[in-house]
Amino acid sequence: MTSAIEDTRLLDDLAALLGPRGFTRDPADLAPWLVDWRGRVRGAALALVSPADARQVAAVVTLAAAAEMPLVPQGGNTSMVAGATPPAHGRALILSLRRMRAIRSVSAADGVAIVEAGVPLQALHEAAEAEGMRFPLSLAAKGSATIGGLVSTNAGGTQVLRFGPMRALVLGLEAVLPDGSVFNGLSALRKDNRGYDLRQLLCGAEGTLGLVTAAALRLVPAIGARAVAWVGLDTPEAALGLLRRLEAATGAAVESFELVPADAVDLVLRHIPGARAPLRKSHRWNVLIEATAPKGAPDPAEAMQAVLAAGLEDGSLADAVIAASETQAEALWALRETISEAERADGVAAKHDVAVPVSAMPGFITSGRAAVEARFTGTRVIAFGHLGDGNVHFNVRAPAGADAAAWLAEEGAAVNAYVHDLVVAAGGSISAEHGIGQTKLAEYARLAEPARLAAQRAIKAALDPRGLMNPGKLVPLA
Ligand SMILES: Cc1cc2nc3c(=O)[nH]c(=O)nc-3n(C[C@H](O)[C@H](O)[C@H](O)COP(=O)(O)OP(=O)(O)OC[C@H]3O[C@@H](n4cnc5c(N)ncnc54)[C@H](O)[C@@H]3O)c2cc1C
Repeated sequence: MTSAIEDTRLLDDLAALLGPRGFTRDPADLAPWLVDWRGRVRGAALALVSPADARQVAAVVTLAAAAEMPLVPQGGNTSMVAGATPPAHGRALILSLRRMRAIRSVSAADGVAIVEAGVPLQALHEAAEAEGMRFPLSLAAKGSATIGGLVSTNAGGTQVLRFGPMRALVLGLEAVLPDGSVFNGLSALRKDNRGYDLRQLLCGAEGTLGLVTAAALRLVPAIGARAVAWVGLDTPEAALGLLRRLEAATGAAVESFELVPADAVDLVLRHIPGARAPLRKSHRWNVLIEATAPKGAPDPAEAMQAVLAAGLEDGSLADAVIAASETQAEALWALRETISEAERADGVAAKHDVAVPVSAMPGFITSGRAAVEARFTGTRVIAFGHLGDGNVHFNVRAPAGADAAAWLAEEGAAVNAYVHDLVVAAGGSISAEHGIGQTKLAEYARLAEPARLAAQRAIKAALDPRGLMNPGKLVPLA
């Protein structure tokens, strides 16, 4: 049993340990971190604690464990599933890693960067580039999303096709476990066969098994040549066919292949200042393609041009443009990366981040869209994203003229269940890259295979027997 007096003692101890830079109870300091990025889930916390190093993190975890105080790890707070938002009851501490921003080393010789959990992704990109290297994972929230958050959500992004998600890029981790012990696993060994892989267990654990304080991450050589194209076509099937032809022609050079429907382009043109249509006419489907090669390797632009020209000739593609400059390439990418922002500006939608086997995705998009729009009269599905990974964001918009927020409150749960049932029937996952967090927990509990749930609960109970690490996220209660 804990009491208010013990909580006050814990807060006093933490204030003394961390000092004014690392501890605050000021409501104005806490406010931005109590609500999720989408502004849909609001929580409360007794304090925001921001340790400066792994030693302080371990001390915080030890003190909190003794007082049975729940901890909510937080990085950039860009979670799409309210994974870093504290519980509504408010007896919890937000443990922010944002002060831990050191880039400990960047080694071109080893192809490894060792960075602390609070480093924003963009800062890692810049540090790697300064050494002639590249960290090959990017996403639209790169200015805010942190390494600790990216590891803990096993983030995906736009280069998974070629380099895999975060799990494929994490070579080592330093972490504080729920009992306050420090796991020193930063040695970045390419081979290490000592049984259960704690490093991989912490990837995607959403802060439920401990706190990532630093990571050793794989780097690849910087880009020497880059070809970025925007293609208009009629169907998702035609898009997947194009991907396979491009892969055959360019070797492993294609690293992004993003599907964008006409509706999404329209939203961006309507809501994002300065956005311009990429092609002369609107097309039902579009793909944004990026192929790259390191210095000294053949420029992929020539092969890409040949494949696109052949597609225009045989009628499998409707139109295409290859960026003639970095500015044009960035403008094409901006169209893709501002879709979420444009959607938000247009009103709420029931959002789903789903995966099915790659070859099944074109059929899933077409039949899933028809099924949802028939079942929920007046709705419109916008499915876009990482076609080459078999992952799209399958978002269902409210009927025209409806109060979108009221529609979501009334119909949202039924829409989510309907979409998720379609995904499970197709052998897919209801969370391709955003994780489970809070907002998908009930659906995950409803749909996950019993063996998966039992194993997850057993792991959680073994490492965090008191359930203090990010409770209410990822692992459904039995
Ligand atoms: C515009 C936009 C675009 C996005 N695009 C993508 C995308 O393409 N692909 C994708 O995968 N995601 C995407 N996301 C989601 C989000 O950016 C990722 O989930 C990211 O990894 C979260 O990082 P963060 O630092 O903001 O973590 P937070 O949101 O702060 O936390 C995320 C989760 O990790 C835990 N956590 C955070 N730091 C630590 C730590 N140090 N130790 C232990 N646990 C921790 C939190 O408790 C929480 O469960 C996008 C988000 C936005 C807003």
